Amino acid sequence: MKKLIEEQFDVVVIGAGPAGMMAAIRAAQKGARVALVDKKEEPGKKLLMAGNGRCNLTQDQDNVVELSNLYKNGRFLLSAFNSFRPGSVQEFFAGNGVPTKVEKNGRVFPVSDRAEDVLGALVNVLKENNITFLYKSHVVDFFLDNEGRISKIKLKKRELFPKNVIIAVGGKSYPATGSMGDGYEWAAKMGHKIIEPLPVLVPIKIKEDWVGELQGVSAGSVSIAVYQGGKKKFSNEGDLMFTHYGFSGPLALNMSRDIAKLVSQSDDDIKFILDLKPYLNFEQLDEIILTDFERNADKKLSNCLHDVFSPKLLDFVLRYSGLDMEKHAAKISRKERHVLVNLVKNLSVTFDSLFGFEMAMATSGGVSTREIDSRTMGSKIVPNLYFAGEIIDVDGPTGGYNLQMCWSTGYLAGESAAKNTLT
Ligand SMILES: Cc1cc2nc3c(=O)[nH]c(=O)nc-3n(C[C@H](O)[C@H](O)[C@H](O)COP(=O)(O)OP(=O)(O)OC[C@H]3O[C@@H](n4cnc5c(N)ncnc54)[C@H](O)[C@@H]3O)c2cc1C
Repeated sequence: MKKLIEEQFDVVVIGAGPAGMMAAIRAAQKGARVALVDKKEEPGKKLLMAGNGRCNLTQDQDNVVELSNLYKNGRFLLSAFNSFRPGSVQEFFAGNGVPTKVEKNGRVFPVSDRAEDVLGALVNVLKENNITFLYKSHVVDFFLDNEGRISKIKLKKRELFPKNVIIAVGGKSYPATGSMGDGYEWAAKMGHKIIEPLPVLVPIKIKEDWVGELQGVSAGSVSIAVYQGGKKKFSNEGDLMFTHYGFSGPLALNMSRDIAKLVSQSDDDIKFILDLKPYLNFEQLDEIILTDFERNADKKLSNCLHDVFSPKLLDFVLRYSGLDMEKHAAKISRKERHVLVNLVKNLSVTFDSLFGFEMAMATSGGVSTREIDSRTMGSKIVPNLYFAGEIIDVDGPTGGYNLQMCWSTGYLAGESAAKNTLT
């Protein structure tokens, strides 16, 4: 049995997520005999959750330098992006029955809005390329020979003797989908440095309870300045979603990458100053409010400003301002108006904490890029080992960036592992 399995597979890919599936496909297309191993009963559990089930599968950005600038360790990804660009990803899926469309901020989705279709296309291509599926197969450990090459993979119920191995078991985010950080231990044992994995692209908890009153408000464009220990650290702009615990939506998720870093570096308090109307300066917003008050001079304050703020936000701004709602607009003083403007442009809240891996869309940290050859995704330590996907210390913002990284690193790792077998 051992001998038979050894003869069967040139490349064993561990992890049937997006990176592993793409790696297996590319290795097989290049002529390798490939096995795809996963501990779950079926592939792509996390992929099915992507983009709320719609799967934001890449970014509409074919300038790989600009693309790479948005990632942690982006330069490391340049060769991978060059070998399989966002445009090639779209062609791949369109050519396999899943045409794509571009939405706001360059986010690319399948026309059908169904992550199932993306997974279905991958599974079809895996089958067409005669890839052997070994599901419900939990990899436990690796063994090296005297030359430092992987000679044996120990699964819970069997052993494999591969010529090449691609580890694509993901990071630690959403552990229920199968990615529980198993790969870090293996990589460390084989001599790779592991950068501490941190949960990123997570919602943000806020201390002030009143934020919960805004639950459900989705603010199209908000600017948030982040202060730690009284010093401004950075500011970001984007779409913010208020929730019962604090903030979510693309702005909060993307900011969590930098906040995770701040939290890991210092215990000092973090404050946020929100500008809910960043495209208007103080005077312009004051002018708009004044015009509204002049138009509605004989109305009570509670019946004004409907054209300036969304209903829930208006309700909050008026109540939180402490102004007398019964007062007629004509009677509102300049000073009172400025209370409103200030509230909208300088809303101060206190950071409480970030959600953990159970709510993280990605992991920052993982196998250090220093010991992976960026031209091949091959280990610089173990000659027949490759890495792909989220297990590597690279991560990007929301918007299809993380899946693009998985497709590209998977593609390059698959191609390189096949070449290593066949030359
Ligand atoms: C809710 C959510 C929504 C997301 N939406 C998007 C989006 O719209 N766009 C985007 O670009 N990114 C999105 N992401 C991020 C993206 O899904 C991940 O970056 C991507 O899935 C990582 O792929 P991967 O192949 O590296 O690992 P994973 O998808 O985590 O797959 C790893 C696989 O390895 C297997 N495995 C783990 N350990 C073992 C073991 N010991 N033995 C055998 N098999 C093992 C697991 O079962 C799993 O199948 C989202 C993430 C989440 C959580």
